[in-house]
Amino acid sequence: MNLNSPIFDRIRTKSRPQPRQEPTQIRCEFPGCTLPGEHRAPMGRLREGQYFCFCIEHVREYNASYNYFQGMTDNDVAKYQKEAVIGHRPTWTMGVNRTARGFREDGVDPAGFKDDLGMFRARSYRRPAAEAAKPRYGVAAMKALTNLGLDDTADAETIKARYKELVKRLHPDANGGDRSREDKLREIIQAYNYLRSAKLV
Ligand SMILES: [Zn+2]
Repeated sequence: MNLNSPIFDRIRTKSRPQPRQEPTQIRCEFPGCTLPGEHRAPMGRLREGQYFCFCIEHVREYNASYNYFQGMTDNDVAKYQKEAVIGHRPTWTMGVNRTARGFREDGVDPAGFKDDLGMFRARSYRRPAAEAAKPRYGVAAMKALTNLGLDDTADAETIKARYKELVKRLHPDANGGDRSREDKLREIIQAYNYLRSAKLV
């Protein structure tokens, strides 16, 4: 019998279907949560293809706090990225009172949950308790955001997306040469330029 026959090759390479993992068997990974972890959340840029499992409420919370660089200056981001390259973990050293939410410097909280990945600290970074009352944008920035039809919940990505959308919509080329919306378009461009000059996008 010729074991090198292409027929055997075909048999041997045929793969079995992987047994599907029942999502309801996984518990939400948020500390203290006992709900089924039916929703996957990417672990992040250094852990592509890896996921946390959360319940719907905690996946939303995680997604909302996911932007590592939210509220950081360009210098902070550059510093973080440089440190990430030389293999350090996100430790959020930018003057944040992490203990405010119960997480210590070493990522161990008093309840015994070890926050190795810093994901829950990221949330405390975004809205430190001491700064919660401090408005995110100044008066001029708020005016610019209003002109773009946005409010203070908008982040840089939202602003950029909104700006692109409005320019596309208001541009004379998109309106058969109709210039009646040019004033609005100019206002939009001015608002965006202001936000850019203020390093908010
Ligand atoms: Zn949960």
